[in-house]
Amino acid sequence: MKIIRVFPRRTKATPIDCLAYYGPPDLFAEADEVHISFTFTWDLAGAEWLVREWERIAPVRIGGPAVGEAGGDFEPGRYLKPGYVITSRGCPNRCWFCSVWKREGDVRELPVRDGWNVLDDNLLACSGTHINRVFAMLRRQKKIAGRRIQFTGGLEAARLEPWHVTLLRDLKPKQLFFAYDTPNDLEPLREAGEMLLSAGFTKASHALRCYVLVGYPRDTPESAEARLHEAIGAGFMPMAMLYRGQSGDRDPEWMRFQKMWARNTIVAAEMRKAEA
Ligand code: SF4
Repeated sequence: MKIIRVFPRRTKATPIDCLAYYGPPDLFAEADEVHISFTFTWDLAGAEWLVREWERIAPVRIGGPAVGEAGGDFEPGRYLKPGYVITSRGCPNRCWFCSVWKREGDVRELPVRDGWNVLDDNLLACSGTHINRVFAMLRRQKKIAGRRIQFTGGLEAARLEPWHVTLLRDLKPKQLFFAYDTPNDLEPLREAGEMLLSAGFTKASHALRCYVLVGYPRDTPESAEARLHEAIGAGFMPMAMLYRGQSGDRDPEWMRFQKMWARNTIVAAEMRKAEA
């Protein structure tokens, strides 16, 4: 059966094969079924139009995180570009701004497929057996295919244990992201920074990264900047992540702020200033 996958927008992570489309069909589109995948709730505004356009080609199915659909087993390359991998879904935490736990429920482990950029919601909440399996797969990716491993889904600092640090150190990932979303993330972040730096990670490599949530209700640029500096102080290169509610609306001032704190050259300069 020929299935076309449709994505409302192209991102770094969306597939680029000939059955992946962005927006409406072209003259050559031909399929038995069309699957439209919505990742972001704000893309749903154009959903009706997109469905109408594709219904002319084949029966349409709508899915994806934005429609509250829990993900199934991960199939490399289907809804994410090859290289991206999800080995578990869900999270035992209940962060107020996050939709993962509402959609996916508690963490559940999936069959481990190949990839080198790990996007799990909360890998460190998985069992030791699963984590070891994931690292074995990543070691193979590195050794056989020469891939540079990344953890861009975000690791939870509060769950980081010394044996995880050993696995991470031996893997020498290109980058691994933690998160500083709420005030109670700070202490675990500092402890994680200490563990990772004592294990041999360096600040200068910029491998230790941290998403810092900014622009949520009642946040101010001053306190957001203070949190970004706290992440630097904990040993991480921060990247601002702009809060977006259901509507996806963004304040232009906050957009400017976020852009600045997402530029590696600017953030690296801030880190050098902090070191001086
Ligand atoms: S720890 Fe991360 S994935 Fe889990 S609920 Fe909080 S923000 Fe969501």
